Amino acid sequence: MRKAVILGRRQAGIVEVPQPHAVQNWAVVKVHVTPMCTEYKQYLTGPRADVLGHEAAGEVVEVAQPGRVRLGDRVVVMPLYACGTCPLCVAGDYIYCQNVSSFSAFTGDQEGQSTYAQYLLKPDWLLLPIPEGVSYEHASLACCALGPSYGALRAANLSAIDTLLLTGAGPVGLGALVNARYRGARTIVVESNPYRVDRAQAMGAAAVIDPRDPDALAQINALTNGVGVDVALDCSGVVAAQRLCIDATRRRGRVAFIGECHDDLPIRVSPDLIRKGLTLIGNWHYNLADYPGVMHVIQHSPLLDLLVSHVLPMSRIQEAFELSASQQCAKILLKPWA
Ligand SMILES: [Zn+2]
Ligand SMILES: [Zn+2]
Repeated sequence: MRKAVILGRRQAGIVEVPQPHAVQNWAVVKVHVTPMCTEYKQYLTGPRADVLGHEAAGEVVEVAQPGRVRLGDRVVVMPLYACGTCPLCVAGDYIYCQNVSSFSAFTGDQEGQSTYAQYLLKPDWLLLPIPEGVSYEHASLACCALGPSYGALRAANLSAIDTLLLTGAGPVGLGALVNARYRGARTIVVESNPYRVDRAQAMGAAAVIDPRDPDALAQINALTNGVGVDVALDCSGVVAAQRLCIDATRRRGRVAFIGECHDDLPIRVSPDLIRKGLTLIGNWHYNLADYPGVMHVIQHSPLLDLLVSHVLPMSRIQEAFELSASQQCAKILLKPWA
């Protein structure tokens, strides 16, 4: 089979590798669509990376034993691997599983972990059915495009009477805008990249504020009668934006974080938390029980196609990475068989 790899700094290509095989309850999926996520960060820095991607939709083509999936099933491939038996996994919060073991030690296969590949290998319980009439392209948005924000906005109980502040309108932030609009919330977006500002406006953002404006906070206050937003969601992973989320949220509001960040956000316990009564929410993905809800958004949101800016054959991986790194894009979908 063919898969995409990073060969070095700003160099990507296609290599031929052995196809993985089903073992126990792990099934082989023929990958029809694999969305690009944060892999461009590795592409920009190098070094070589042989395992790429964590989002996919495809078709079950090999099973080793009767189980939860059958040959021909169309499935969303959930991100990462997990034990399936610990309390977090059983509760559907498998993304937080602490018992993630070595892929190759368990499967005996070296290949099958990449989603940037023609085939992958996955435990059957992490392969969720795609409803009839939903395309692989649309179904693949049930991974990082819509997933982290779905979980976060559900935890924050965002509703149609709320105003949401959304910082960062990259692919995850635009996915959050789809989810927020689906919930009926008025949404104020903070973004400076003109391509993404246009996209957020096309998707119905009530206002888009440039984070470089020194009066960004005052602008948000002016849009909320001086009270602040009900809910804030940071999708940027930038400390200044995370801080803005806390400062722009009203008393007793909710602030959620899904943008990965490796720097420290200073929090002042008394003014930020105790006196303001804020609820802070950290969220990675969504609970497996929320999959039908995510699929409902996919089936009914009129904004879904605006979330995807490019569909490219995987054979053009170098160009796809350059595009992803340029940030002149929303979600990019790769087709491993083209
Ligand atoms: Zn587990
Ligand atoms: Zn992702």
